[in-house]
Amino acid sequence: MKVAVIGAGIVGVTTAYQLLRDGHEVTVIDRQPGPALECSHANGGYVAISQAVPWSQPGVPTKTLLGLLGKAPPILVHPGQIPAMWRWGLEFILASRVAPSWENTKDVLRLALYSHAILKETRERETIAYAPILKGTLKVFSEQETMQGAIAVSQSQVPLGLNYEELSTEQCVAMVPALSLRRDQLAGGIHYPDEEAGDCFAFTCELARICGERGVRFEFNTLVRRLVRDGARLSHLETSKGDMKADAFVLAAGAESPLLARNLGMRLPVLPVKGYSLTFPRSVWPEAPDRPVLDEKRKFGFAPLGTDRLRMSGFAEIAGYDTRPEKHRTEALARSFMGLFPQLETRINLAELKPFCCLRPVTPKGPPIIGRSQVENLYFNVGQGHLGWTLAHGSARLAADSIIGRTSDIDLRGYVPA
Ligand SMILES: Cc1cc2nc3c(=O)[nH]c(=O)nc-3n(C[C@H](O)[C@H](O)[C@H](O)COP(=O)(O)OP(=O)(O)OC[C@H]3O[C@@H](n4cnc5c(N)ncnc54)[C@H](O)[C@@H]3O)c2cc1C
Repeated sequence: MKVAVIGAGIVGVTTAYQLLRDGHEVTVIDRQPGPALECSHANGGYVAISQAVPWSQPGVPTKTLLGLLGKAPPILVHPGQIPAMWRWGLEFILASRVAPSWENTKDVLRLALYSHAILKETRERETIAYAPILKGTLKVFSEQETMQGAIAVSQSQVPLGLNYEELSTEQCVAMVPALSLRRDQLAGGIHYPDEEAGDCFAFTCELARICGERGVRFEFNTLVRRLVRDGARLSHLETSKGDMKADAFVLAAGAESPLLARNLGMRLPVLPVKGYSLTFPRSVWPEAPDRPVLDEKRKFGFAPLGTDRLRMSGFAEIAGYDTRPEKHRTEALARSFMGLFPQLETRINLAELKPFCCLRPVTPKGPPIIGRSQVENLYFNVGQGHLGWTLAHGSARLAADSIIGRTSDIDLRGYVPA
């Protein structure tokens, strides 16, 4: 079958790879000059199975609303966005109740574990240079109460497959000696031994290269303007380089996906949520931790990328499709990092920071939307949110299953388009 995939981020490229394995003739279309130049370009790098709890969880809507009054919110909402996002916001609030949030956590966790297995399978099958770090993730806490809450959340997921170990402050410092300067401010940590990290951009580029060598066509610098319907089916894509036909189409355009679905009269509940990342050469801090560290209080993540770079990432901001970095936010990210690792204060020059900003495609409930839409030959693979690098590999296999009509390895309820 001829399949056109819209989007060459991690989700689109992994989808193309799975479709290729199923024997389809695949074309990937992207407006950028190469793969993974938008949200998949410079993310935190964690394969973060432990972060399966969706953002829509008890307490988050209240804290977010208080953020409008000036308190530090988990998600910063620019008031001008409220009229355009009210429906998504309402769904988010409803999904944040205890029972739905738990159901959504189970759906995301199931996919995260499955996706990790597919990532390992791909890594074994192919030679992909993306600097994986297979040492687990350490999450540190400043308050005992918050830590006990996080342990309870992790413990509830153990029967579903999550693996964790509670660490004292001294055990955290033994694992990551760079934490020693903040020893007196730490309440302890949680180590997730099965997690890993790696360069999502490098992985996507390498996988795109492999796909290209095996016959997948990449149409870069090509903007998809419209999905054109003929009766119950899509007939073609209207693009900046002319019309493109296929037997089936996969929408994997990240945060832009709802804009393309809209002209078919379909509402995709995916909101762009802006995040920031900063990347430094390792020479800035040769003794940097050799594994990812997340700070619960300061809300940032750190990951070494291979042997030559360091990345910090954070923030969730509802600001529409604006990806321009703001200087005070960039500096705040660097400062929160230096708050945990003060040894960096003399090594990072705030005036010279070069941030990368991009838009996570976030669904109100948490799980992504994967499978056939109301239009017969249009499939969705969108909405992986803050976990796109973690969930992409499994999502891609599920999308490929739905196109070929194969029974999937995991229960699809929770992901299928409403
Ligand atoms: C700061 C930050 C840190 C993160 N950290 C992590 C992490 O540690 N672990 C994790 O699992 N996830 C993380 N994420 C989330 C992850 O990066 C995203 O979920 C993932 O990159 C989304 O991939 P995607 O392929 O759906 O979207 P994208 O990578 O944005 O790809 C979509 C593609 O579609 C193309 N496109 C869009 N519209 C059109 C059009 N009309 N025509 C043609 N092409 C089009 C774009 O050019 C783009 O290449 C993080 C995100 C952020 C912002």
